[in-house]
Amino acid sequence: MTTAPDVLALQETDLALDKARARLRDVEAQTGEGEELIAAREVVAERQEVLKQLRSQLHDAEWSVEDARGKAGGVEQKLYGGTIRNPKELSDLNDDLSSLKTQVAKREDSLLGLLVEMEEAEKQLESARSALAETDAVWQREQASLLGEKARLEPEIAALETRRENQLPAVDAESMRLYQLLRERHRGQAVAGVERGMCQGCRIALPMSLVQKARSGGGLVQCVSCERILLVT
Ligand SMILES: [Zn+2]
Repeated sequence: MTTAPDVLALQETDLALDKARARLRDVEAQTGEGEELIAAREVVAERQEVLKQLRSQLHDAEWSVEDARGKAGGVEQKLYGGTIRNPKELSDLNDDLSSLKTQVAKREDSLLGLLVEMEEAEKQLESARSALAETDAVWQREQASLLGEKARLEPEIAALETRRENQLPAVDAESMRLYQLLRERHRGQAVAGVERGMCQGCRIALPMSLVQKARSGGGLVQCVSCERILLVT
């Protein structure tokens, strides 16, 4: 015959199993790359791309400054070389030179602007990299601790499952149905202790005859109010 202590033993195993399995699910859900780490990595990639584009712009700007300087140099040579004497031609060359010099100055300005932008972009990349390193270090520590916890939980669950298997024969089919029903209804707490004639599940004062019956150990006795299985110790 199934007794209240038999059901209580099963309940303790089930509660421990529920807790361990829920924790394992949490641990497994947290294992793997977190959103923070992915986001930090994306920021680094974005800033690397910005810097790459600026480098290419800088390369073009350097070439364009050199080009304008070269052209201005050529015009200057013609202008002061003494081979050209025609005043109209000389005046045109002078205009060309001044417009080329303006162009050189403009291009040098934009080159300088790019150098400043690059310096800023390099700083931004550096700070994104150190943020990533920090996030990664935290993540590594968390993962190590989660994996350690998983390695403890898995054998713990296996041991509880074995214990449950061994406890099952003591609980007959009808008692099992009752236990499962109450377990669902009372968040795993199907068994209630009795203290000073009171059900510890719902705090109601129980009829003396019921307490006597529960004490005598003749099968399962339920609380008249919450219907939990009563255990008199
Ligand atoms: Zn009760």
